[in-house]
Amino acid sequence: MGVMHRLVDRNEEFVSKFRHGDRTGAPAQHLALLTCMDARIHLAPALGLDIGDANIIRNAGGRASDDAIRSLVISTELLGTNEIAVMHHTDCGMLKFTNDDSVPSCRPRAGSTRPASTSFPSQRSSRACATTLRRSRRRPWWPTASR
Ligand SMILES: [Zn+2]
Repeated sequence: MGVMHRLVDRNEEFVSKFRHGDRTGAPAQHLALLTCMDARIHLAPALGLDIGDANIIRNAGGRASDDAIRSLVISTELLGTNEIAVMHHTDCGMLKFTNDDSVPSCRPRAGSTRPASTSFPSQRSSRACATTLRRSRRRPWWPTASR
């Protein structure tokens, strides 16, 4: 059985027991959290979050990319979020390589198109987090509640 079949089977079991379908997409704690996609980060137990507590936005490195900002704007402007947390972590892969490291293997498919720059090589996690916040706050769409 492949991974996708296992996921579908587990989801059917999960759905049969799910009792939170009456909740809206608005975060009950009025919180949005931007963090890395690293598979080791298990946010609910790590932060004591329950289903529906926060809007979670994840990408490689937990960067305030245009798409992450778009999600944060929706969370703050339409879903009642009034706090945004940016959480980075130790041993983040985005501190070990740059986008240029991934480009050669993509070049045959992508040609001259390049992915958006999102990495901060050689920075410690705490410094990368500060850089994300500083860059984010300069962007016109960054929600004013978190400036
Ligand atoms: Zn990471």
